[in-house]
Amino acid sequence: WKHAPAHFRALLEMSRFHGEKVFLVYEDEHITFEDHFRRAATLANRLVDEYGVRKGDRVAVAMRNYPEWVISFSAALAAGAVAVPLNAWWTESELAYGVRDSGAKVLIADGERAERLASTGVPMIVTRGAATGGARAFDEVLGEVTADVTLPGVELSPDDPATIFYTSGTTGNPKGALGSHRNIGQSPMTVAYGLMRSVALAGKDPAAAAGTRRITLLTVPLFHVTGCFSAMTTTMFSGGGLVLMYKWDAGQALRLIERERVSAMIGVPTNAWQLMSHPDFGKHDLSSLSTLGYGGAPAPPKLLERITTNLPDRAPSNGYGMTETSALAIGNGGADYHAKPDSIGLPSPVVDVRVVDPMGAQLAPGEVGELCIRGPNVILGYWNKPEATAETFVDGWVHTGDLARIDEDGFVYIVDRAKDMVIRGGENVYCAEVEAALFEHPAVDDVAVIGVPHDELGEEVGAVVRLAPGASATAEELREFLAGRLAKFKIPAHVWFREGELPRNPGGKVLKTHLRREVLGAGRS
Ligand code: ATP
Ligand code: MG
Repeated sequence: WKHAPAHFRALLEMSRFHGEKVFLVYEDEHITFEDHFRRAATLANRLVDEYGVRKGDRVAVAMRNYPEWVISFSAALAAGAVAVPLNAWWTESELAYGVRDSGAKVLIADGERAERLASTGVPMIVTRGAATGGARAFDEVLGEVTADVTLPGVELSPDDPATIFYTSGTTGNPKGALGSHRNIGQSPMTVAYGLMRSVALAGKDPAAAAGTRRITLLTVPLFHVTGCFSAMTTTMFSGGGLVLMYKWDAGQALRLIERERVSAMIGVPTNAWQLMSHPDFGKHDLSSLSTLGYGGAPAPPKLLERITTNLPDRAPSNGYGMTETSALAIGNGGADYHAKPDSIGLPSPVVDVRVVDPMGAQLAPGEVGELCIRGPNVILGYWNKPEATAETFVDGWVHTGDLARIDEDGFVYIVDRAKDMVIRGGENVYCAEVEAALFEHPAVDDVAVIGVPHDELGEEVGAVVRLAPGASATAEELREFLAGRLAKFKIPAHVWFREGELPRNPGGKVLKTHLRREVLGAGRS
């Protein structure tokens, strides 16, 4: 206690005050805050003593949402290292890229990832599977865990790097986002304030809400910032509980909400949508659930309507954030959300926002331009990518690559991703707008709008639609439905119906490049 430790180490030390409360739940495993602290601190010491990890070295974590993910992340940061959460969905060559790009000194992996990582030759610690080759088992490395364990001695300052999260790669190759301890420190403030605001605006008593321990069901991976910051580090701060899932499964989510008395679900919009569409919805006791937070991808206004009908009296919220803003930066909830269901809401108290033209000049309210964000949540830059860093981070502002407008009240509206726009004969068509309009049709369960190459117009609008189970609609019916809602040039010239789920990445975003490749070979209607 000689001097204040940098943010994550401070958070870890503070989390010990939550003692014997359960921090992590995975299937029938329950890990208390004290347990987590001891194991993380022990592993941190092993990383330093046995693996020679020093301040600034990278330690990669490649796992599904197991409790060991959290312990490994905490241990890496406690050792003064930079944690590199790798995408568990990645193939062998993608994982190898992540290891090479980050220059990881040690890998901590689950059995399945360990097999895919074996060829990298980097020292590895393995859990939930066989430790083969030179790898060692997680529990063996941990050895004896005692009550008197302390964090290894390392001096860190708030702007020292803490994490490298890879962006989800929607617009190209994933970039390593280098986050600092300060970024982590601001996150519980941003998330808790957003939550409190949305609860209060939903007409609930924040004091009563504060009195109950928040149990969060995490429906997205920990290796993206939403899982790690909006859910995990915030729970460490608040002393609530975090229920982990191996992978998203709406039926399992319904069972867990009932069994663990879950109060908050955090994930992507599709999770909330699928929860309500599941055949078992209505068969479970969901009375404990008081908030539903989602973000990371556009949330169609129809989702709010469905929640209001199917899960009345809850506080839903739509959060906007990106890897570069360490998760949540702007959020909409409660009465505000009902009044402006197509807005992502107001900025977190710690951030500034503005919308700029291509020259970087600030635009007036209502004008559409690129959204820029500034604050203690903005990362240090891209790992080993000075050019991309200089392009994206200008004078402390991160250029989001999202087109947005800000209204007179300061509410932000995402119009679309700058790269997710169809330009039809010179007219911009924002995919998100057409998608939201199609979602309004009762037969539509899921939809993605894409550009279809056209000789004369450059591009035409195409829609890939998945109908709700048992529902039917023809392309012509959908076009007629849109005719009353959208200008003619925005109405999809091509409609493809699809049986299965749309391909999505773990961040909930439709893989449009993939989808385009898939449908453009197929017959048009
Ligand atoms: P890459 O940068 O590698 O192409 P990515 O931008 O998809 O990948 P993330 O950082 O995971 O990687 O996602 C951030 C983006 O997600 C934002 O820029 C925005 O386009 C979108 N997004 C996040 N939250 C929302 C939201 N609530 N509404 C609409 N879009 C959102
Ligand atoms: Mg991005």
